[in-house]
Amino acid sequence: MSYVDEVLERVIAKNPAEPEFHQAAKEVLNSLRPVIEANEELYRKEALLERLTEPDRQFKFRVPWVDDKGQVQVNTGYRVQFNNSIGPYKGGLRLHPSVNLGIIKFLGFEQIFKNSLTGLPIGGGKGGSDFDPKGKSDREVMAFCQSFMTELCKYIGADTDVPAGDIGTGAREIGYMFGQFKKIRGTYEGVLTGKGLSYGGSLARTEATGYGLLYLTEEMLKCNGHDLKGKTVCVSGSGNVAIYATQKAHQLGAKVVTVSDSTGWVYDPEGIDVALLKEVKEVKRARLTEYAAARPSAEYHEGRGVWTVKCDVALPCATQNELLLDDAKALVANGCIAVAEGANMPTTLEATEYLQQNKVLFAPGKAANAGGVATSALEMSQNSERLSWTFEEVDSKLQGIMVNIFHNLDDAAKRYGKEGDYVAGANIAGFEKVAEAMIAQGVC
Ligand code: NDP
Repeated sequence: MSYVDEVLERVIAKNPAEPEFHQAAKEVLNSLRPVIEANEELYRKEALLERLTEPDRQFKFRVPWVDDKGQVQVNTGYRVQFNNSIGPYKGGLRLHPSVNLGIIKFLGFEQIFKNSLTGLPIGGGKGGSDFDPKGKSDREVMAFCQSFMTELCKYIGADTDVPAGDIGTGAREIGYMFGQFKKIRGTYEGVLTGKGLSYGGSLARTEATGYGLLYLTEEMLKCNGHDLKGKTVCVSGSGNVAIYATQKAHQLGAKVVTVSDSTGWVYDPEGIDVALLKEVKEVKRARLTEYAAARPSAEYHEGRGVWTVKCDVALPCATQNELLLDDAKALVANGCIAVAEGANMPTTLEATEYLQQNKVLFAPGKAANAGGVATSALEMSQNSERLSWTFEEVDSKLQGIMVNIFHNLDDAAKRYGKEGDYVAGANIAGFEKVAEAMIAQGVC
């Protein structure tokens, strides 16, 4: 049995009931086969893949808080510190009822390679809770965040582990968590990123993931003889990533015609009105029905359906496993030329394979959405320097990083005879640096 197959078998046996983690391990290790086969003796001796698939440590803790009726509620908190061989652990905190250890592990594992790809010194980690901020009052969200941080603050620090936002964790939640960290630990340090501008946040962090997605997509199209200008784009989701992806796509001359949320989706053939979308989602925290009600050109549909709309470029920006094999078939039948993942692992393995077999350019999330974590690392640099850079400075560094990421994965794919396979390219480029650092640092 090959080394990769042995390790995959071990991952499944050691981590039962964690299907998302199995999926991520399979996706990464399968695409690393050419590198691993070329170095099999060394990697086996070092137990490199066994070490890489076992988190450095994982914390699971009780998060009790009191709701507005005086009732005590209990959630579960997680932080997985996966790998710090190239820098302090870095990765977001997801607040969503679906959160469990397997999901946090899949995200933390992917984060190792994504962070490595940015070229910045950051290791991989992830955390979160099964708490649902939706429908909660500000006071309830604060009570949860304070309780969550009361435990989490024991394990994190500016040079140890620097969490950030993710689904359900935006500026409000980061603010409450930062306040609690400061109160308990008594230090003012860059322990979280995605902070407000008045207390150490970076300009352009809010926009970074969506903007970065478009910078990489534009470069991928350009290097394959296409132009983003004039293209029709389907976006899923209507959160942070989706909103700023839509905004940047419009700035670069494309037209986004769809967005979605967990209950339905909107088709707006005249192009999504970003100001209205922000008003509905960022200010009112309302459903997309309100967008459709305020915009005569928009149609609202219940359930799923974004990928049935004819488009040149598809940008899944909602959540994991939201683009399935049938969706991939619909995209191919409609002439889609590129898919770039704004969300983490939104495309299932079968859908990814189908798209690649049908010559659709496919940029995996760990490269395409790395702009968020890259700008978080820029926020860490600004905090260490006690300086704030301008929006333009950060945005131009972000653009440079995303263009570089694309060329790194393109080169890595070519080096291993996998030209155009950006999934393999991203995993190989991310893995090589981490593997070298792990071996250099000995058995630890
Ligand atoms: P938000 O919470 O701001 O938005 C998430 C969006 O996805 C919302 O529109 C939400 O709809 C929708 N959604 C969530 N769960 C589901 C579901 N089960 N089915 C359908 N739609 C769903 O999160 P972000 O925009 O920050 O994150 C989106 C994705 O991007 C995630 O995979 C995240 O890990 C990834 N990512 C985010 C980064 C960041 O900087 N924010 C960085 C890198 C990756 P509703 O409003 O109904 O909940």
